[in-house]
Amino acid sequence: METYLGLDLGGTKLLIGELDRCGNILKYKKYDSGFFNQQAALEIIKESLDDYVQTVGWTGDKPVAMGVGLIGRVDTVSGIWLQIDPTRTHPVPLAKELSNLYGIPCHIDNDVKAATRAERVFGFGQISKNFIYVNVGTGIAASFVVNGRQIRGSHFNAGEVGHTQVGVNVGIKCGCGRMDCVELIASGIGFDRCARLLCKDYETNLQIPEDIANRVQVKDIFTLSQKGDPLCVQLVENATQALANLIMNLVRVSDPDTVVLGGGIVSDGFFHTKVLEKLNATTIRFVTNGVVITKLNPDFIGLMGAGAVAMNV
Ligand SMILES: [Zn+2]
Repeated sequence: METYLGLDLGGTKLLIGELDRCGNILKYKKYDSGFFNQQAALEIIKESLDDYVQTVGWTGDKPVAMGVGLIGRVDTVSGIWLQIDPTRTHPVPLAKELSNLYGIPCHIDNDVKAATRAERVFGFGQISKNFIYVNVGTGIAASFVVNGRQIRGSHFNAGEVGHTQVGVNVGIKCGCGRMDCVELIASGIGFDRCARLLCKDYETNLQIPEDIANRVQVKDIFTLSQKGDPLCVQLVENATQALANLIMNLVRVSDPDTVVLGGGIVSDGFFHTKVLEKLNATTIRFVTNGVVITKLNPDFIGLMGAGAVAMNV
């Protein structure tokens, strides 16, 4: 049986696994990566992969190809990892280096675009050729699938919709230079920033870590919100309105029949329901399959995406 090697490198962890052609994960192992720049990431990948080969090994023959999902901007054509963010820009020809090291073809892609590939190949893509995948996790990004193809843009930067304003104004300046980007209101980062800003104005029982390196727990905000905690009620209200507005704006751009939500924040049913309540029926009348949570396992959609990247589909 032909298998594929997938690597999903997130902000703090690296997941390595072997998949079959249908996207089933046959074996996997998780590694802590910590905070890294691109050169350190290459070392982390090599060390972890060597460990994987020794401690987990292949199910049968060596995989026929490998795929890597990465944070930041990725040139999928040349196989160059261009940058993590503007402060971490050091282009690495990652696909070529890994291919030379391990003797199999290697392809790379951005992590959200890889997750969208998983959705396109193994998920809602089986019933839709025009959908939008919106990832709401630590940050917010999306990928547009139009006539079965993903939009890339001229600099592989399409879909960075977390940096758009959506009419919910709290007064936070974003690293990108604009005010009140939706990512600063409705993502893991956003809940943290808004909690710290608004806790002066609302009573709350929410634990807000003094050290800004430790983020507020979003699940605590959801729990307290359902008990009527004034700050948490307001944070959830702002975030769900912001995300609903973002979704409605995106729907007006590419006319999808499905909007698929993924990422740690939206997998919570409470949050999803509140977003649905704020969608305007006329705006989303052609989204006939609905605004739905991915059916793929949220913990493994990135790895399945890396598998699809390996298959180069
Ligand atoms: Zn921004």
